[in-house]
Amino acid sequence: MATNRTFTMIKPEAVANGHIGAILERINAAGFRIVSMKKTELTSELAGAFYAVHKERPFYGELVSYMSSGPIVAAILEKDNAVSDFRALIGATDPSEAADGTIRKEFAESKAKNAVHGSDSDENAEIEGTFFFSQFERF
Ligand code: UDP
Ligand code: MG
Repeated sequence: MATNRTFTMIKPEAVANGHIGAILERINAAGFRIVSMKKTELTSELAGAFYAVHKERPFYGELVSYMSSGPIVAAILEKDNAVSDFRALIGATDPSEAADGTIRKEFAESKAKNAVHGSDSDENAEIEGTFFFSQFERF
């Protein structure tokens, strides 16, 4: 069953480059409601657990050290068709392939440092949201 929520992170290089406000503005302008949000920092253990699905991929080690290299912003977002509409808003993983007007096209530095995360399914949106937020924070 499709749900109306997704999960996002503003990744370390986008936070470090001062893009939190501009990215949140784009998210709001696209019609997403912010359900829960916090600025926090992942340890390498937590980043490794969050991206465990990519454990066997060649970029896993770099991804874990990058995602634990500085503060991030984590948020649960709500909108009809949230998962696929948010993936459309952020664009392709590699910013050189991302469509004009997408968040990654505008803010990403590279395929690895690509500014934002977006859940790829309703099931993962639920898992990822509960990774960061307690039941009392998901209202
Ligand atoms: N990534 C990378 N190199 C790659 C593919 C992915 O560094 O060749 C990183 C990138 O930060 C990406 C994350 O790993 O956002 C997760 O990869 P995934 O394929 O799930 O891309 P996404 O769902 O974020 O578009
Ligand atoms: Mg993914």
